[in-house]
Amino acid sequence: MSAARILVADPLSPAGLDILRAGGAEVLDVSSEGRAAVEAAIGDCTALLVRSRTQVDAALLALAPNLRVVGRAGVGVDNVDVFEATRRGVLVLNAPNANLISATEHSFALLLALARQLPAADASMKRGEWERSRFLGVELQGKTLGIIGFGRIGQKVAARAQAFEMKVVAFDPWLDKEIASRLGVPLLGLDALLEAADAVTFHVPLTPETKNLLSSERIARMKPGALLVNCARGGVVDEAALLAALDSGHLGGAALDVFAQEPPVDPRLVAHPRVVATPHIGAQTVEAQERVSSEVARMVLDALAGSYAVSAVNLPFSADASGAGPFLLLGEQLGRLGTALAGGKVDSLEVDLRGVPEAFGAAVSLSVAKGALDRALGDAVNYVNVEWLARDRGIELVRTLHPRRGETGEQVGLRIQGAEGEFSIGGMLYADRQPRLIRLGTLPLECRLEGHLLLLRSWDVPGVIGKVGTKLGTLGVNIADIHLARKDGERDAWTVYRVDQQLTLEMIAELAALPEVRRVFDLDLSRG
Ligand code: NAD
Repeated sequence: MSAARILVADPLSPAGLDILRAGGAEVLDVSSEGRAAVEAAIGDCTALLVRSRTQVDAALLALAPNLRVVGRAGVGVDNVDVFEATRRGVLVLNAPNANLISATEHSFALLLALARQLPAADASMKRGEWERSRFLGVELQGKTLGIIGFGRIGQKVAARAQAFEMKVVAFDPWLDKEIASRLGVPLLGLDALLEAADAVTFHVPLTPETKNLLSSERIARMKPGALLVNCARGGVVDEAALLAALDSGHLGGAALDVFAQEPPVDPRLVAHPRVVATPHIGAQTVEAQERVSSEVARMVLDALAGSYAVSAVNLPFSADASGAGPFLLLGEQLGRLGTALAGGKVDSLEVDLRGVPEAFGAAVSLSVAKGALDRALGDAVNYVNVEWLARDRGIELVRTLHPRRGETGEQVGLRIQGAEGEFSIGGMLYADRQPRLIRLGTLPLECRLEGHLLLLRSWDVPGVIGKVGTKLGTLGVNIADIHLARKDGERDAWTVYRVDQQLTLEMIAELAALPEVRRVFDLDLSRG
């Protein structure tokens, strides 16, 4: 085999480039040039390495017939069209563990900086002042730290807070209480946490549920003088509400590494005297940059050599196994749908595979788990860590393989147990290899598993579809298609709407308020 040609499109720590060269690869480093250089070089390359700058979109992938692997040096794959890569059989890798310690330590640095007004004190001294009484701080010992999102970074922040003799409480509706209590951290409801905490720190991914999670109503629940740290994602805090709470003096201060828009357009928050701001540098340490670059370089070489043990966002094994791609997409989309229906925390996943090629069996059952965890963990879950993450979260994963398709053609069935009880769904690949839902509970219901879905459970009475359609119309939401299911003689009916946009929580509340509607589930399958 000729040497791998690896295109480095964004600046990477030299450690990774050395690993690639030592592994016999030819490295084309165009990171100091623009998109045109990437487009010109990609045609001959077997692998592409990026950080967050280069957009690996369908247009770029179309220029890359020899591409087998995209390595993202970091966690988020927002800049990679994973769907298109999967369709083309291109493996997408990320490095979700490389920056955990750096982000943890930065969160804690922000908390300390805020508690003792370090940046302002330092700036004052640099102006030649000596103003001791102006910088009256607060101690952390004995105070309560509320952690929102108790995943990998949240748990590490908790350990550091405990070493500072703080009381730690957390909110994470997706996590098993026992896991938190083993770490000495009670899980509270969000409102209870906000009311109890002297300082609140965010460690959640940005999802439809976490967008503007800290709203003005929720800030109002926080203790007067409470501190806020956000080193997670900008959109989780409503910035206008935060600014108002800082102006009114309700909040003691906020330390922010991340912003709804980066760099922030409105300077008022950053300039506020009670704000400590850093330009998204949570992962900017020598160690994290080296780790991320080396991890991705090693994995890209391993993947090109056909190894399965890589941190794959899409395909769980060799990039050549393109035959598995559509099954994995079917599994992931069913996992996402099942989790939405089960209403949050997942307890168990039973996957029934019928007539799926045996070689893909294990991977397809993992794809269901990956889709199921996606809403809670976002890009942090991939094909290598999914089984471990599921086990760590106390989720039972059971797989049964049947040699032939079900009578209805069903290939992947999922029984999911979660916060709202048990749900069962089934899907298959059509002749076009696109995933379809074909069963919802015991009801036959056929729908493409892509885009934005709105699932409505309603009473089976005349006029519901008209009312919902009118409501969606007044909200400016366009319906792509509608699918109905009910059992004759029963009052229970389901309707699945594929719509052209993600609905806001307010829109969903308006639909849920219609008297005939019993429950509304919304689902974004467009990132699959
Ligand atoms: P993780 O996936 O290990 O943990 C996230 C936790 O959030 C999970 O336990 C999940 O159950 C929980 N969660 C999901 N939805 C929730 C909700 N609606 N309410 C409460 N909890 C919810 O992720 P992590 O590695 O710990 O990273 C946490 C955050 O830190 C991510 O947003 C990540 O992007 C960010 N991060 C930022 C930097 C930086 O440079 N500032 C660096 C690394 C990570």
